[in-house]
Amino acid sequence: MDFLQDYLLAARQKNLYRQTIAYEPVDATHVRLDGQIYLLLAANNYLGLTHHPRVRQAAIEAVANYGSGSGGARLTTGTHPVYSSLEGRLAAFKGTEAAVVFNCGYMANIGTISALMGRADTIFSDELNHASIIDGCRLSKARTVVFRHSDMAHLAQCLAETPCSGQRLIVVDGVFSMDGDIAPLEEIVKLAKKYDALTMVDDAHSTGVLGQGRGTAVHFGLEGQIDIQLGTLSKALAAEGGYVAGSRQLVEYLVNTARSFIFSTALAPAAVAAALAALELIEAEPALTEKLSSNSSFMRRGLSAAGLPVVGGITPIIPVGVGPAGTAVKLAEELRQGGLIITAIRPPTVPEGESRLRIAVSAAHDQAELSLAIDQIAAAVNKLKRGDH
Ligand code: PMP
Repeated sequence: MDFLQDYLLAARQKNLYRQTIAYEPVDATHVRLDGQIYLLLAANNYLGLTHHPRVRQAAIEAVANYGSGSGGARLTTGTHPVYSSLEGRLAAFKGTEAAVVFNCGYMANIGTISALMGRADTIFSDELNHASIIDGCRLSKARTVVFRHSDMAHLAQCLAETPCSGQRLIVVDGVFSMDGDIAPLEEIVKLAKKYDALTMVDDAHSTGVLGQGRGTAVHFGLEGQIDIQLGTLSKALAAEGGYVAGSRQLVEYLVNTARSFIFSTALAPAAVAAALAALELIEAEPALTEKLSSNSSFMRRGLSAAGLPVVGGITPIIPVGVGPAGTAVKLAEELRQGGLIITAIRPPTVPEGESRLRIAVSAAHDQAELSLAIDQIAAAVNKLKRGDH
């Protein structure tokens, strides 16, 4: 097993070694580690609903009523009653005929893509798509053509130049997870119509965030024009799980064929009930998504005003590019010592030389603490530029 040792040693030398850290959540935006409290600017808990009293209560009641685990796969005995409520509500929220819940967004992507696409088909996939889309493409055995990030001229060229006897699928992240930019869905839909391709959008970072929380299709006014809308229950929806929303036939087909749906034990009732409660809150309280949006622009404006290289955008994912992996790690450590948790994103998640701090804002942050964080981040980056590290 020497190769394990070699790999781990090399990862350490290249600043690419990773380990899990057990942060104890205090509330939606603070964690405790070794007795000290830190401000979280790294979570995907976009609306802070993990700690909302109604969401917590829904999870507690589900455990009390249905027990701690589902005890079976979806197609055997694991589909407890809250599943139908959540799937119905998700379909209504996304404006589709039906929706189906998977055990996580990763499984939704690999299960859906590999069920829909096969050897005769061609997938057109943005180069910055999430790993679970990439893995779904690989698993499907379809030909996969990777187009340059959000480059519609390149996508058009790929579509024109790739002969395909089977189905075509264009798949993108609605909001890209590491850059926080939004996919150009209007152009994608136009190209899909021209080349008779199916469209699939991963709204993991747009559900609860864009289009009054309904995702990128609504954000662009493209209701009814995206064939497959996929997302996660683990970010703004404050629980765990993934979903696919689309036509009734699509959902029936996935229930019958998606292997990650069929061959895995269903989610615990508490996760499903919590996601349902979060969804109800998002629909009932538009102020939640509005607060997220105002916090995101507050943070973006503040970082830009402090001279940091913040790329334009409107989402709560705010990357601050720093270059080498070692620099990103040093900065994250410096900020941690100052009480901020911000993740250093390094290869292979992002390309070599494009390591960054990935700041993620929540509706649960208050702007006074965001202000302090902006000052701290700017001071740490400037110190690094001056070479004081
Ligand atoms: N898609 C995207 C764009 C994501 O960012 C993520 C999670 N980081 C997933 C899918 C996977 O979702 P989950 O965490 O529910 O597996």
